[in-house]
Amino acid sequence: MNTAIKNVVIVGGGTAGWLTAALLQKVVGASINITLVESEAIGTVGVGEATIPPIRLVNQVLGINEAEFLRETKATIKLAIKFENWRRPNESYFHTFGSPGKSMAFCHFHHFVNRAKAFGAKASIWDYDLNYLCATQGKFAHIKAQDTVLDLPYAYHFDASLYAQFLRRYCTKLGVTRIEGMIESVQQHSSGNIAAVTLQDGQRIDGDLFIDCSGFRGLLIQQTLGVGYDDWTHLLHCNRAVAVPSKRFETTVPYTRAIAHTAGWQWRIPLQHRNGNGLVYCSSHMSDDEATHTLLNNLDSAPLGDPKVIHFTTGRRRKQWYKNVVAVGLASGFLEPLESTSIHLIQSAIVRLIHLFPHAGIDSAAVDEYNQQSELEYLQIRDFLVLHYHLTERDDSQFWRNMQHMDIPASLRHKMTLFKQNGKLFREQNDLFLESSWLQVMTGQGIEPDDYHPIANTLSEQQLMNMLEQMRSVKHEPLASLPSHDAFLSHYCQAK
Ligand SMILES: Cc1cc2nc3c(=O)[nH]c(=O)nc-3n(C[C@H](O)[C@H](O)[C@H](O)COP(=O)(O)OP(=O)(O)OC[C@H]3O[C@@H](n4cnc5c(N)ncnc54)[C@H](O)[C@@H]3O)c2cc1C
Repeated sequence: MNTAIKNVVIVGGGTAGWLTAALLQKVVGASINITLVESEAIGTVGVGEATIPPIRLVNQVLGINEAEFLRETKATIKLAIKFENWRRPNESYFHTFGSPGKSMAFCHFHHFVNRAKAFGAKASIWDYDLNYLCATQGKFAHIKAQDTVLDLPYAYHFDASLYAQFLRRYCTKLGVTRIEGMIESVQQHSSGNIAAVTLQDGQRIDGDLFIDCSGFRGLLIQQTLGVGYDDWTHLLHCNRAVAVPSKRFETTVPYTRAIAHTAGWQWRIPLQHRNGNGLVYCSSHMSDDEATHTLLNNLDSAPLGDPKVIHFTTGRRRKQWYKNVVAVGLASGFLEPLESTSIHLIQSAIVRLIHLFPHAGIDSAAVDEYNQQSELEYLQIRDFLVLHYHLTERDDSQFWRNMQHMDIPASLRHKMTLFKQNGKLFREQNDLFLESSWLQVMTGQGIEPDDYHPIANTLSEQQLMNMLEQMRSVKHEPLASLPSHDAFLSHYCQAK
């Protein structure tokens, strides 16, 4: 198809639809017209409240004032995820957005820690991680450090519906046309490309390029174009979630909690005005009633509404760009929210689309490139999620025993083997998760490397201990002067 792209129609007004509209309008809006169709009668999925640090780039590109953003979406700061009961009941570890110590060009910092442990010293990678220290002490502020050793990468927890409303206001100000109504039929050209969507009231909306942000149903990419779906339930067994908000706690922690239960896990996301909660579970091991009961019993504050059960199939559309439709958000696939990656997948899909934007017409090389990149990204995240489950030592339920004994992708096994041998870590091309993420989860889930890199032997035991102590004090030094997370929020949210 070589029609120049002028009219872009976004189907759906959840996080995917509005984020797509905002970024497209801001970056390529001068040369295209954007129309977004959403149906209040259908509504949005209503979850998706924890993010990862690249979200801040979105805000920067959009020119969003952070204080206003935090205020209007009732957001809190996220420095990490705390995994509780994953390796064994009553044990926990953190996967932070930071990294321990400071790595040298040829040797990651954890090799020095492992050497110290090898000669009997007490050392833990988290003791050198500022994100961990701030998360566990409930502290936060923007740190303006000269040295990257004191970086404090962060993301947000926000109210999903307030976020969609925030983006909607942003987009309509910038000139995106919003149409409210339910799409009843889809019109196609003889080539199979989508020509238009028609609403229940008869209004027809024509377009050159359609972005399917219609949620799990995949109105265009699946229901109309039938691209098919790669089902990954054999690797990630959970297929349902039950979600409910609850009253806020007096103190909000700057991290998400991921608490493992007998057949899944529970999230707790602290917001300024409430907590977001949900239980992700596997329906062959836990009924909806049991899941709802487990969730309600583990809230620690009163529920603020009725629990809502959501069904999903883990996996991805075989093609995320097909003909003149690009699927973004839940319409493109779904990986459970264990590492809060879905909103990020929306962001990276749009960035990819902007890089490959078909101004002069759709070209198969660009479509292939788009599809290859998105497949790789999904596969890499999938493997990282599988890691958390597979490395469990829990044998208190059939669900966890299945996790331990399941076949895992060869690429993941390879990574685990390298790390077990002597702590080797490699970041694959464009992997969203850096070495420090793999390190923290593999360590937290119980892999102890048999050896360390010999570069760590270039220091004497005393020099090594001095170096570790120096790093420890550098990382601890800012803590005393940092405000609590809540004090930061209440002060910062008043800023203009
Ligand atoms: C249990 C669960 C927990 C999650 N937690 C996280 C998390 O912590 N972090 C994270 O990053 N992500 C999370 N996600 C994912 C996140 O919620 C989604 O990626 C995000 O909300 C985007 O959803 P969406 O916009 O694709 O779909 P939806 O929110 O479902 O929006 C679909 C839109 O399409 C419209 N629509 C559909 N059909 C029609 C029609 N016929 N006519 C007109 N309009 C139509 C709807 O009205 C709606 O506006 C979670 C998902 C689930 C299921």
